[in-house]
Amino acid sequence: MQPRYSGKVRELYDISDTQMVIVTTDRISAFDHILPTPVCGKGRVLNQLSNFWFGRTQHIIPNHIVDSRTENMPPFFHDDFFQGRCVLVKKLKMLPFEFVVRGYLFGKMWEAYKNKECFCNISLPAGYSLAQKLARPVLTPAIKHPVGHDEYVDMCQVEKELGVETTQYITKICFKLYLECSSYALSKGVIIADAKFEFGYDEKGVLLLADEIFTPDASRYWDADKYRVGISPASFDKQFLRDWLLQHQENGAFPFDQVPKDVLLRTGQLYQTCLHRLIGP
Ligand code: ATP
Ligand code: MG
Repeated sequence: MQPRYSGKVRELYDISDTQMVIVTTDRISAFDHILPTPVCGKGRVLNQLSNFWFGRTQHIIPNHIVDSRTENMPPFFHDDFFQGRCVLVKKLKMLPFEFVVRGYLFGKMWEAYKNKECFCNISLPAGYSLAQKLARPVLTPAIKHPVGHDEYVDMCQVEKELGVETTQYITKICFKLYLECSSYALSKGVIIADAKFEFGYDEKGVLLLADEIFTPDASRYWDADKYRVGISPASFDKQFLRDWLLQHQENGAFPFDQVPKDVLLRTGQLYQTCLHRLIGP
């Protein structure tokens, strides 16, 4: 069986007209580049986290998950490699947007703020510092482009495309998902700084939550114990790897094939720590 689509991290296999399997590999990307060496176990951690959050948010919105047991998938997925890293999902007609809820000022929005630029037509009051918690979370949508970077837009553009009612519904759901899950995570010592959501319609026209949710690839996870306003927070994802690459950059080029084993090992351990904090052993 061949995947229908291979992303940087995940692979999609068509099962039927209405179902597909998403496989999360151990591949890791940084600065839009896939590293030659995978991070052992990363895919299973991401898959477990996503499934955990899908399970916890069903009262907010139904989602695309059909089954996460490989034994209930076609025999091809019974190989050990696939164990714990696959989900059988409803194949949806995806919305062309992804929606990022930001509870803290960081990343692209911080860059825009520093340069006194609006971000997704949201202007924040002066006086914020790096990584500071926002007075209230904001929603920053982006158009998903098949190739190249996603393009941040404002909610007016979403409304033009999807209509007022759907846009209001999505807005409400995004904030609910973020507020409920980030407050649970905080009780476990983890800050969810932001979170990306994707939605799609099933064959009956019902809007479902799709893709992966609250994985370190789709969210920023910070260690609440070490969090301080004004400094780049200790994160449970590939920030450690990114920092190493930044420190070893030469003439603007990153040495992707020279990342030491212990940096990848430490990155893998951070993913595991995050999982243990949130879900337990
Ligand atoms: P990147 O590797 O940078 O994340 P990507 O988002 O294209 O790029 P993946 O995230 O690995 O790659 O690919 C998953 C794709 O599957 C996304 O385009 C996502 O929108 C799509 N997708 C997720 N869930 C569903 C679903 N239930 N039905 C149809 N498509 C889906
Ligand atoms: Mg993606």
